[in-house]
Amino acid sequence: MAEEKKTKYLTQAINDEILSKLSLKNRYQFLNTNLMTILEPKEFNFLKKAQKFCMRFEKKNNITHRTDEDVYEWIPAFGAEGYITRTHPFEMIDLNYEDYGATIEFMRCLAIDFFDPQFSLAGGATVLAINPIYEHHENMPLRLEIMKKMATGETPGAILITEPERGSDAVHMLTTCDEQEDGSFVLNGEKIYSTNGPKSGYVVAYATAEQNNGNTMAQFLIDTSWEGFNCERVYIPYVPKVWLGKERLENLRVPKEYVLGGVGKGREHLFEGLVPERIGIAIDCVAQCWNAIAHAAIYANNRKQFDQEILKFQGVGFLLTDLWARLTNTTLGLLMFCKNYDSKVEKFGGKLPKNISQAMVASASQFKYYTAKLSAEICYEAANLMGGAGLCDNTLMQDLLQMSRIAEIIGGSRQIQTYILSMAMRQLYKMSGI
Ligand SMILES: Cc1cc2nc3c(=O)[nH]c(=O)nc-3n(C[C@H](O)[C@H](O)[C@H](O)COP(=O)(O)OP(=O)(O)OC[C@H]3O[C@@H](n4cnc5c(N)ncnc54)[C@H](O)[C@@H]3O)c2cc1C
Repeated sequence: MAEEKKTKYLTQAINDEILSKLSLKNRYQFLNTNLMTILEPKEFNFLKKAQKFCMRFEKKNNITHRTDEDVYEWIPAFGAEGYITRTHPFEMIDLNYEDYGATIEFMRCLAIDFFDPQFSLAGGATVLAINPIYEHHENMPLRLEIMKKMATGETPGAILITEPERGSDAVHMLTTCDEQEDGSFVLNGEKIYSTNGPKSGYVVAYATAEQNNGNTMAQFLIDTSWEGFNCERVYIPYVPKVWLGKERLENLRVPKEYVLGGVGKGREHLFEGLVPERIGIAIDCVAQCWNAIAHAAIYANNRKQFDQEILKFQGVGFLLTDLWARLTNTTLGLLMFCKNYDSKVEKFGGKLPKNISQAMVASASQFKYYTAKLSAEICYEAANLMGGAGLCDNTLMQDLLQMSRIAEIIGGSRQIQTYILSMAMRQLYKMSGI
């Protein structure tokens, strides 16, 4: 059994030479060569540091990336090195990261996604649970302690918005919260598709005082060991290593100190998290695309058919370069968004004013919409360009291909993004004074 675990695949299908060229180190090198003229030294150095950590971790722990591995076991090691999230400096929990912000987070994601895309996806959900606590900890020790546990990899976190009967229509929730005399709440209802739900020590959940009334929503921090919190795993075959939850909240009592936003505050808190969430998904999608392009570029430069490297055939080369060009352009756009976001956060003392954050909603939706589509196309086409090698279990291409199938649903579907954008365009039209 131990012997079997050492191999990364069931049967080797790709020849030794090409398989070794597809190593994590070489894929990082391809990425870095692409980015070296684009990134600032600070960003590039952080990227390389994170890459070095991933390469060492993979080697030292003999990581195979096969389905029998538990990606959740790796979280503490990444947490100890500060690779769970770099969105904030986290001074209030004494992490004091020197390198932080949306651009650095982009770099972190690139490194982690190349190492293992499913691990990166699970990590992204923890970040979504950390963000609302960061915004609303009010210096309360218990909230800070929980945030630290998640940020340092002691436990993953999850965010519970979606319900079995309320997906896209997230503001008309059915899960109820009843305020008690002592300021605590009692929650009842069901949540679903919560990434990391069954593995998380803590989750952030939304409920409503009156069903279907978005104005009465509230936001809660929940300890999953409390009585009344029941969770089953929802299995998504595209991401077999990621655990998603279906939660039943049954007379779950939430003490006052765990109420991050009382009745009436929930919707605002939900929307506040949407810009970073959608940008986070866009970053993940772009990282998946680079991983896929790195695989395909290395493969097409080495694989020979008809006595030629397949890259030299127009059908392969022109398709691959079309994808590469579109990905580079999108990366530049997203990078600019991240830098702009960082400079605004800095200008306003660590927190974006509500009107600026709202102005970014359309951009965040545009990026989420476009990168999810791009990921579905690039991961599929890149795998295709590798023929059987892109579909077998010898490389991470099959993970990327499968993950690219969920990108358009998570964080709001394609239709919801375009719906949001239609309304934003209407507003912009009116603002233009035409
Ligand atoms: C892998 C994965 C991870 C996830 N992680 C989380 C998580 O961590 N936390 C969480 O809370 N949720 C999570 N979700 C849930 C996700 O956000 C929802 O699945 C998504 O919002 C869609 O909701 P739904 O599945 O109920 O689909 P529905 O809302 O029922 O949509 C079904 C179809 O109808 C379309 N549709 C719906 N309304 C409209 C409309 N007004 N106009 C046009 N088309 C419309 C949709 O685009 C979709 O194609 C996750 C889902 C997946 C698959």
